[in-house]
Amino acid sequence: MKALDELTFDNRFARLGDAFSTHVLPEPLDEPRLVVASKAAMALLDLDPAVAETPVFAELFGGHKLWAEAEPRAMVYSGHQFGGYTPQLGDGRGLLLGEVYNEAGEHWDLHLKGAGMTPYSRMGDGRAVLRSSIREFLASEALHALGIPTSRALCVIGSSTPVWREKQERGAMVLRLAHSHIRFGHFEYFYYTKKPEQQAELAEHVLNLHYPECREQPEPYLAMFREIVERNAEMIAKWQAYGFCHGVMNTDNMSILGITFDFGPFAFLDDFDAHFICNHSDHEGRYSFSNQVPIGQWNLSALAQALTPFISVEALKEALGLYLPLYQAHYLDLMRRRLGLTTAEEDDQTLVEGLLKLMQNSGVDYTLFFRRLGDESATLAVARLRDDFVDMAGFDAWAERYKARVARDGDYTQEQRRERMHAVNPLYILRNYLAQNAIAAAESGDYSEVRLLHDVLTRPFEEQAGMEQYAQRPPDWGKHLEISCSS
Ligand code: AMP
Ligand code: MG
Repeated sequence: MKALDELTFDNRFARLGDAFSTHVLPEPLDEPRLVVASKAAMALLDLDPAVAETPVFAELFGGHKLWAEAEPRAMVYSGHQFGGYTPQLGDGRGLLLGEVYNEAGEHWDLHLKGAGMTPYSRMGDGRAVLRSSIREFLASEALHALGIPTSRALCVIGSSTPVWREKQERGAMVLRLAHSHIRFGHFEYFYYTKKPEQQAELAEHVLNLHYPECREQPEPYLAMFREIVERNAEMIAKWQAYGFCHGVMNTDNMSILGITFDFGPFAFLDDFDAHFICNHSDHEGRYSFSNQVPIGQWNLSALAQALTPFISVEALKEALGLYLPLYQAHYLDLMRRRLGLTTAEEDDQTLVEGLLKLMQNSGVDYTLFFRRLGDESATLAVARLRDDFVDMAGFDAWAERYKARVARDGDYTQEQRRERMHAVNPLYILRNYLAQNAIAAAESGDYSEVRLLHDVLTRPFEEQAGMEQYAQRPPDWGKHLEISCSS
């Protein structure tokens, strides 16, 4: 276990130099205080969890202090936003403080979001508000607990610094961890600004540090792109299987590591709704729940375009062709497991689709349906769940198919079925209204609810005594919350 001053830095991205990032010091928040910290994330840095409670922790992650070896940098990138190219983006309010490596030899980027203005702030103030910082923190740690690849969050630091959004709010910072903060938009930036040398340097950097095994392949860059395609297909399959809607899948928010990245107006589905749009400024539904699948491919094509200096168009197209089949295989595999199935049959796809259509028509809670399905034998569970469906005849027909499929699947006890299903079907997810309750308390200075909710969400598959209220459908006020897109 390390103390805060024992972290070891190795700032590999900073060493790429000024063409890639700009040195900027964090702008401190007034009266920094710990809102919440993740012990699991602290363990990634070998940090003793007790240090979160020390004043120096809030000073470091509230922008007041810096390690001598830290080299805070704002990264430059660009990207396609809602389908259109924005030539100049970059860290407008976040800083890469440096890269820390742990005792296991892993490097972790320390990225402080809400750290003040940078050369890439454009019209923004460089700040992040408490509300959005809490949402990013909770989402990162909740997705990780569900087994969905994501950036992590070490802590949220609150403050008394006023920040103006639709109304006056308070500034906060969230310390984000990831093996890299390089986005699709980094490659697009050097491609569209016609800087082939830097573009090559960036590609070498990513290949060497993040895809070293691709070096062994005859075409290392192609192997790397293929791997990025595969990772994205898998990540998005998990989003779809668990009902996560990202909301702003611009290419500047897509990580080259295939991890969930840059949380904005995201939401988990309460009722199943394929057409759900969590981002209220997304009028066309470009990033609606079901569109995440084709948009994943669209984004990969944008990255492919930026990689044309290194890889033939033919090969890029072939690699892009892997996306949909891989996505489908991962998705179906997960959905089979959610249904308690251990074998694969041709018709499983239509079994899943049939269920989703029924859920859509009746507004059935996506998370609780699967959890309850595993509580009992297939026969007893469908008999109980039937009441949630408006089209009962339709559900009965599906239930017959399901029971027959379960019978063909194998011979196992109800105990085994429950255990296996509960291990993939969470009881607790980050529902918008739960986040909202925790945020309202935090805004009035009480952080206990954020901490408790975080704690519950770190063990989503495990029934926790006395936590029933976190496993409920939203109350009426919490059903269609308009989450502000300002952050
Ligand atoms: P986002 O939609 O949060 O991914 O942000 C898109 C771009 O706007 C990124 O380059 C951000 O750094 C920048 N940005 C967002 N909010 C702010 C802010 N309050 N101040 C400065 N830049 C910002
Ligand atoms: Mg972003």
